[in-house]
Amino acid sequence: MIYVQPELPYAADALVPAISPETIHFHYGKHEKAYIENLNKMVANTEWDDVELEDIIRKADGPLFNNASQAWNHIFYFFSFSPDGGGEPGGELGEAIKRDFGSFEEFKRQFVDAGVKLFGSGWVWLVSDNEGKLKIVQCKNAENPLRDGLTPLLTFDVWEHAYYLDYQNRRADALDALWSVVDWGVVEERY
Ligand code: MN
Repeated sequence: MIYVQPELPYAADALVPAISPETIHFHYGKHEKAYIENLNKMVANTEWDDVELEDIIRKADGPLFNNASQAWNHIFYFFSFSPDGGGEPGGELGEAIKRDFGSFEEFKRQFVDAGVKLFGSGWVWLVSDNEGKLKIVQCKNAENPLRDGLTPLLTFDVWEHAYYLDYQNRRADALDALWSVVDWGVVEERY
């Protein structure tokens, strides 16, 4: 199986000012492209060759896990955004956020706080357990909540490559800016 990097559903400059076209170019066009190329090289002519990507993430270790998970995480991340995004989630997800965090504002505060406090590289996730309860989890490096049987709903990338061109050391500002482009329709469908 050959994994193909999907085209983004928006233009490189569509998420300004939250994410610049330069960051899209390097982050999706270079970093993510390399993870997918490495993944394809590693699985070719091995027992992993026709294993679904999410199953590689659940079962593999070491460099194969790292590249598989990073390949998946970045598609999940970039496909959570839209130039028409922002606002608040509705429906069952909106209700569950109020139930489990008290309010949407409090959820956003805890989510950004978890991202800022994650030491080093990684991802902050909103996940659902198999009873629909929502949680915020921090994952270092390429770690992935799929390995813990959780359903990922939303993630913000806190690797420096995700924000350094636009925000330098201001990780909190970089994460706060993303609320203006989150496509809650996509996140609600994942729930
Ligand atoms: Mn990244």
